[in-house]
Amino acid sequence: MDLLKERILKDGELRPGNILKVDSFVNHQMDIKLMNEVGKEFKRLFADRKIDRILTIEASGIGIAAITAQYFDCPLVFAKKSQSLNIDGAMLLANIESFTYKKTYSAVVAKKYIHEGENVLIIDDFLANGAAANGLIEIVEQAGANVAGIGIVIEKGFQDGGKLLRERGYNLKSLAIVENMDVEKGTIVFRDEE
Ligand code: 5GP
Repeated sequence: MDLLKERILKDGELRPGNILKVDSFVNHQMDIKLMNEVGKEFKRLFADRKIDRILTIEASGIGIAAITAQYFDCPLVFAKKSQSLNIDGAMLLANIESFTYKKTYSAVVAKKYIHEGENVLIIDDFLANGAAANGLIEIVEQAGANVAGIGIVIEKGFQDGGKLLRERGYNLKSLAIVENMDVEKGTIVFRDEE
């Protein structure tokens, strides 16, 4: 998605530890016009699928997924991050190791919000090692629902998450795939469209 890639080149900031900061238009301040184009693009990419609901994870996935859900005319469910083990049988749960904070947390969704046999589209802002996406897949599969697709705004293609998900056969679409980035030189190179 050219508009997104141009914006990343213009306003993305590189930080040590392979972090790409997009706080001025995605993760802190949000450019809603751009996010609207993101939602439209996800609709175009997954137009052949019947989507019953969208699943993301708090916090930064919510805004993007909310806009996307309008295009699919379906509910949005977001997994809540929880430190507590005080979870009853009415919850779907996965443990996720956070790439940015190097901590493990639980992601939980009430069973009543994802039903057996439904087609669920997973949406998130970033894909790095794939821990967040794998946690969300686990939650969908625990519910007996199907992962209809995975839509990612920015994939860091030099980390393994995307490769492993594609190898497992998931229908993963990323709007911008960063092939490599150099913090010292401040350069970002995108992978060509697939
Ligand atoms: P993964 O679980 O795939 O390793 O990492 C994905 C999650 O970590 C995303 O939900 C995102 O919040 C965060 N993340 C990973 N890499 C980056 C990055 O370079 N920049 C930002 N802003 N967040 C990242």
